Amino acid sequence: MKAHDGMYIDGAWRPAAGGDVIEVVNPADEQVIGRVPAGTAADVDTAVRAARAALPGWAATPPAERAARLAALRDVLAARKDEIAETVTAELGSPLNFSQAVHAGVPIAVAGSYAELAATYAFEEKVGNSTVYHEPIGVVGAITPWNYPLHQIVAKAAPALAAGCTVVLKPAEDTPLVAQLFAEAVHEAGVPAGVFNLVTGRGPVAGQALAEHPDVDLVSFTGSTAVGRQIAMVAGAAVKKVALELGGKSANVILPSADLAKAVNVGVANVMSNSGQTCSAWTRMLVHRDQYDEAVELAAAAAAKYGERIGPVVSAKQQERVLGYIEKGVAEGARLVAGGTEAPREQGCFVSPTVFADVTPEMTIAQEEIFGPVLSILRYEDEADALRIANGTVYGLAGAVWAGEEAEAVAFARRMDTGQVDINGGRFNPLAPFGGYKQSGVGRELGAHGLTEYLQTKSLQF
Ligand code: NAP
Ligand code: MG
Repeated sequence: MKAHDGMYIDGAWRPAAGGDVIEVVNPADEQVIGRVPAGTAADVDTAVRAARAALPGWAATPPAERAARLAALRDVLAARKDEIAETVTAELGSPLNFSQAVHAGVPIAVAGSYAELAATYAFEEKVGNSTVYHEPIGVVGAITPWNYPLHQIVAKAAPALAAGCTVVLKPAEDTPLVAQLFAEAVHEAGVPAGVFNLVTGRGPVAGQALAEHPDVDLVSFTGSTAVGRQIAMVAGAAVKKVALELGGKSANVILPSADLAKAVNVGVANVMSNSGQTCSAWTRMLVHRDQYDEAVELAAAAAAKYGERIGPVVSAKQQERVLGYIEKGVAEGARLVAGGTEAPREQGCFVSPTVFADVTPEMTIAQEEIFGPVLSILRYEDEADALRIANGTVYGLAGAVWAGEEAEAVAFARRMDTGQVDINGGRFNPLAPFGGYKQSGVGRELGAHGLTEYLQTKSLQF
């Protein structure tokens, strides 16, 4: 795989300050596929200075011109779709068709949506005797994870650029190659030097330096709740804004009137796609006691079918973590009905699509984010019980409700403490605000709501 041995700062690839490198590994065969520099606080500082210097010019660039750059960026990403998919498949391990449709397809759509929003958003409004200007918040420090590596970059960089902010990105150390490809795309799209900067590196070094940097105005982070909490504390002490997209333990609530087979099959597919490494995955399936045994049978059969198609998880470390949760599920008394700890292949970081039945709400596998292809099926007595179980975690990122009538599903969804609910298998909408209730985060990404995160208001009175 192509890899740059420098940082993209101020419009060019520049040597890193130190000599440390990150080896990028393909989890399907555990071979090293590239090396990128592991940035330090010095690289972060150079990048933040470049972003600061570029801010006045970019903030003053008319929205229509910012929109034109974003449209060009979308076009470059679309032209390089195959390369994006191959890169994500190599460093994350997801099957190529999924990389094409989702890992490449979604970021193209999101970049396009911000090209349009930049052109049409009302950056100025009248309120009584005031004119209110929606101005860029400033220099953005973006820290992203590996599970949807390009999507999570674009979900921050595109609205930031649309708003008139400048950006320093620290991508996940497991997936830096698609981040470098994105920096190339930004360059090709004619975005001025310093507006977007990339520092590859490790979280506790480069990531922390970026979160702590006094000249960063907003830290936008996606990843684990543990790291998000640390970042929020650092940012709070410096009185800077933070946006956090954290974990989830979402519920797939199947009401008795639902099409059970459809709800179970879509539910299993939702958990197994991207090898279970989706923060909004519906990892808890809630089924009425009268339909429980049938649902378990359907889910086990559906999971077994995924056996040959599933990709590896991102790394050996993640594989170990997921297997540890499967062991814990067995130890706490859940009943394994598909998969388990046995490796489905001799080579690579694979985990068998796994389904647990007889899971009770207090079990570890029903409370903690596993981030692997593991589904827990829980039994509920009545609707009140289902709601209590659905809301009974520290998280609140997503969920699903299935019912015979949409209105019944909507009434249930309105009582869920969560930011997103798919009704009877509703499709992902890249314009709908995405983000969490409770410990799943602070702030929203995507669409117009995602744009406002990067803006602050100034009111002039007349
Ligand atoms: P993570 O440690 O939270 O990593 C997310 C990003 O933060 C990465 O770029 C990471 O760098 C960086 N980071 C780590 N420590 C940091 C620090 N002290 N200061 C600033 N930045 C820091 O998540 P992970 O290690 O990739 O995955 C661990 C678990 O988090 C997963 O198993 C999963 O449960 C959860 N997770 C959730 C999401 C989500 O979308 N909600 C995404 C990914 C992971 P490095 O890459 O160098 O560590
Ligand atoms: Mg980490």
